[in-house]
Amino acid sequence: LTTLQNQLLLAVGGSLDAHECMRTFMQTTYKLLDLDSISLFTFDHSTSGKDSFIRYISIPDDGKDRDLDHKLIIYKMLLDFKNKKRKMHLSEILHDTEILAYAFSSIGGLVLVKKQSIFPSGVKTTLIPVIDKAAEHFQLCEQQKRTNKELKINKKAQLTYELQAKRDPLTNLPNRREFRNALSKEISNAQRYNHFGALMYIDLDNFKTVNDSLGHSIGDILLTHVARRLTEQARGEDRVFRIGGDEFVYILVNTGNSKDDAIKASRTVANRVISCLSEAIQIDAFSLHITPSIGIAIFPETFDSFDDGNDSENILRHADTAMYRAKEKGRNCYKFFNPEMHVEVSKRLIIEEHLRKAIKNHELHVEYQPIVNTKNEIIAAESLARWDNPMFGSIPPEKFISISEESNMILKLSELILRRACTFAATLYQQLPKDSNFSYISINISPRQFLQNDFVESVISIIEECSVPNKFIKLEFTETVLLDNLDLTIKKMKKLHENNIDFLLDDFGTGYSSLSYLHKLPIWLLKIDKSFVNDIYAEENNTQAILSAILILTEKLGIKCIVEGVETQQQVDYFKSHDIYGMQGYFFYKPMLDTDLTDLVCNLQKNRVNE
Ligand code: C2E
Ligand code: CA
Ligand code: CA
Repeated sequence: LTTLQNQLLLAVGGSLDAHECMRTFMQTTYKLLDLDSISLFTFDHSTSGKDSFIRYISIPDDGKDRDLDHKLIIYKMLLDFKNKKRKMHLSEILHDTEILAYAFSSIGGLVLVKKQSIFPSGVKTTLIPVIDKAAEHFQLCEQQKRTNKELKINKKAQLTYELQAKRDPLTNLPNRREFRNALSKEISNAQRYNHFGALMYIDLDNFKTVNDSLGHSIGDILLTHVARRLTEQARGEDRVFRIGGDEFVYILVNTGNSKDDAIKASRTVANRVISCLSEAIQIDAFSLHITPSIGIAIFPETFDSFDDGNDSENILRHADTAMYRAKEKGRNCYKFFNPEMHVEVSKRLIIEEHLRKAIKNHELHVEYQPIVNTKNEIIAAESLARWDNPMFGSIPPEKFISISEESNMILKLSELILRRACTFAATLYQQLPKDSNFSYISINISPRQFLQNDFVESVISIIEECSVPNKFIKLEFTETVLLDNLDLTIKKMKKLHENNIDFLLDDFGTGYSSLSYLHKLPIWLLKIDKSFVNDIYAEENNTQAILSAILILTEKLGIKCIVEGVETQQQVDYFKSHDIYGMQGYFFYKPMLDTDLTDLVCNLQKNRVNE
């Protein structure tokens, strides 16, 4: 019996594969004990398999069905094991044949059938530790299998994670982090092997407008198209990365041993990039024309690897600076970095610095440009910010407003202008002759100002503090303000309306989908952009057709129109013949000081009364 036990124990654990190892063990048992059959059943834990068992391994595996009585006995035994009625082993004798079953841990049961006979005494107990050992090993194998599977899943997750950390999920291009590593590597390669490379910073022109007017999902699709086109035209080892919203970079690897070669190669690639984006991108019903502004920086700057100028951050900054220059130069073009550009950047910083002080030092004032009706009567005025700096002279609002927008100073600045304009409006209102046609002062609102959560509340409270009638103030918004979050915009507009504060849509016609949202928004007044007025009599264009379409449509929607930038008699005639609501422009008046406007409005009115 001891020999038998040892022989059987030796057959356990030959492999880490549960199936294979049970097979070996069962085959040995089958032979040594001269069995009719030996089967391992496992409990079926699926919900449908309540009280059912799976024949895991059978030897011999001829699949021949045993007699029904046998089956019933086995079934009952297994059920007992499952319900843990009796633990160790059970045996039944049926027509001279003994059926011996052992609980196989909590997994199932091992059933041994002796050939036309019964088991010799002592065998049953001898087998107990052997079968326990086998069950233990079986469980170990299963455990190992599960661990391996988990490891595999984890490894896969790890790999996807690593891939994601390197890729931009939208375009699948390598991301900013990858770009940093790649650029540093290329710079040191260039230094080591004495060659040049180039970094191109590619920014899409007017991408924000697409996003704002057509929605982010269209914007996203557009980006994937751009990414595809850029990668498709990249050659050799050159790589394209996406490092921000609509910002891509392109590393040109080893463009030769001279700077001139690098410049030549960059020119070719930049032209290729421009041309590969020039074909319209079709998304749904939209045919989008997107152009890039490209800034190029050649690296390395020196072959001294200790020189700080070579660090990848610096090269990126240079390419970025050059890209801004390309934007200024009218977009859809490329510019190489040169150190003088930094002067421009620092100029910006200087202006920013001075603007901060200007707000404190009262260097800013507000002028007012009258708006007239078709009878040349002044019906309103637009407030326009002015900045006269002792050192730089007068700085145009377009410049300082945009600088202040980028640095968040706009909030302070806007509040200051709003207060000034409202204070003036309050005094003007009090001096207006009784029969005056003058009905409001308008104030420009910048996009960032409008986006502030407390925008509406702060406007209301300032107007109230200045004790000017709400009806006497109108706010000018541009289209960009409107579409960032249409629902929120409508909410804010409604709230303004409830408080009797009107607004008008400025620069109308310069955005994307102007007409489509007009009926969605509570807008009753709009200002047609000066570009339409300029072009009205230009040859070979259809400005007049567009203008009359706008005028007809707005009339149907009950929206009144003002035109701005009216400079000639011809333009005046055109708009008068179209019975425009208001006209603004140098032809009538330039922006003027508050005192001048007061004189003008009050005296003119008096003159009219005197007539
Ligand atoms: P805008 O709101 O479109 O203002 C109209 C601009 O057109 C003003 O330029 C005005 O002086 C100019 N303009 C008026 N009539 C004529 C004309 O007949 N011909 C030409 N060529 N131009 C004319 P300005 O004052 O330089 O303002 C430029 C822009 O700066 C404004 O454009 C507005 O977007 C912004 N801005 C001005 N003041 C403020 C302000 O207080 N807050 C904000 N957020 N933006 C302001
Ligand atoms: Ca305006
Ligand atoms: Ca305007």
